[in-house]
This record gives sequence, structure tokens and C-alpha cells, in this order.
Amino acid sequence: MYETCLSVNCTVKDLWDGVSWKWPLELLDRHGVVLGSYKPRLIANVADVVKWKDRQGRLKDFGADLAWNEIKQCRKVVGWADWVWFHQNTLRHAFILWLAIKERLRTREKLVSWNIGDASECVFCKKHLESHNHVFMDCDFSKDIWNSFLALVNLDGFFVDIVDKDDGWARFIKISSIPCKKSCWNLIKRWLFGAVVYFIWQERNYRIFQAKERKVDGICSLIKDYVRLKMLGADIKKGRMYAQALRKWGFKELDCEDGQKIE
Ligand SMILES: [Zn+2]
Repeated sequence: MYETCLSVNCTVKDLWDGVSWKWPLELLDRHGVVLGSYKPRLIANVADVVKWKDRQGRLKDFGADLAWNEIKQCRKVVGWADWVWFHQNTLRHAFILWLAIKERLRTREKLVSWNIGDASECVFCKKHLESHNHVFMDCDFSKDIWNSFLALVNLDGFFVDIVDKDDGWARFIKISSIPCKKSCWNLIKRWLFGAVVYFIWQERNYRIFQAKERKVDGICSLIKDYVRLKMLGADIKKGRMYAQALRKWGFKELDCEDGQKIE
């Protein structure tokens, strides 16, 4: 519109004479089929309104949300979406977990397959190929981190069907895809899973790019501090279940909403 020098105050009446359009040639060259397809009915003393024709051909008042919903590609919502994208999550954790679930992180396995670099072994154990499955599930370093927390979220037997399998990471994602209830424990599990994946990947990058190295205990402390901090600021019902969770995560004494004191 800018290139054709049309006025910003231009109305339909300026361009439509009741029989044909008077669009500038530049616009007709590019969008003639679309611009000529609609024949408006002019109504005296009524202001122009912008309309949008939906997929069913119904004419509606235009809105950005309506247009977006019409032109976007609609795909089935994936089961793990609630584990990654929820409003109390930390964005950088969500982003790394999202990439990890989609196996889009640039692991050494991927880089070597793209002929970038020749180091393919895991930076933690220095024995196995660094794949998503290995770095997040199978490596002893990662297993030690997971095992430090599973009891804290009532998932003691969680790894029985996951670890030491070629598709352990895929199984983990499948289990995470079970629709989540909005309970206190579920929220804690989601914070935990996101934090474990984030800090494992961060540690991997520290070792490769900054020659820094932290032990499992140090990373577990960071994860635990993070989850505890989230628990304190959680936007959830602070009833007995919440109090139990706090106690399990090492808080000493607190009052819950139903008046029971936990010591
Ligand atoms: Zn390893």
C-alpha cells in the first residue's frame, strides 16, 4: 500500500465505483485475482469495516486471532506439551526440554553425522556415543542425578522400564506424555524433569566449551535449590499435600492452609 501511494484515509468508495475496482496497477499486478474477487455493496453514510471470510466461506468481523486461527497449520496437540509449556515453568528449562524431547539438541552424534567435528564420545563417561538417549538417560552420570530425586517425587521405581534400553529416552517421553493432573506433586515432577534435563545439558556444555567441571552432588544441589525455590513461590493450593511435599523436600516447619502445623 505504501509503494502505491494510497492515502491512509482511503476508503472503499475511493477505489470502487459500484461496478469495478480502481486499484493501482502495482497492486493489481501482484494481487489482482484476490482484489477483484469481492464486489462490495456501498451503503451511504456507513463507515468501512474490515471483514474476514473463514474456511467455511462465512463473512466475519476481522480480528488478528480469527485470521491466525484460520491460516495456521492445525496439528494434534502432543501429549508432552503440558510437561514443557506451563505458566509456572522457567522458560530456559522449557526451551531445552522441548529441544531435547524433539531430539534437536546438537549432540556429538548429530554433529559427527553432519561432518562437524570428530569427537563423538560422551563428555561425562568418555566411553559411549553422545546421543540424546545416552546423555539424558543411559549415562551413569545422568542416572546418578535422576536417582537422587526419584524418591522425592514418589517415583522410586520409575526407571525400571526406562534405563539401559536403546529407546529409554523415547520411553521417558512417552511416560511424560500421560496427561498430567494439576496436583502439587505433578507440578513438582514437571519442575524437576525440566531442571534435570537443563542442568545436564548445561554441564555438558560447560565441560566442552569452558573446561569447567562440576560433580554430581554439585548439580543435584542446584536442582534441589531450584525446585525448593519454585515450591515456595508456587501458585497452588497450599493444603496438606503441599505441606507433605515441602517436608519431603527438606523444609522443617510450616503451616498449611487447613490449619495443621507440620514439624
Ligand atoms: Zn556417558
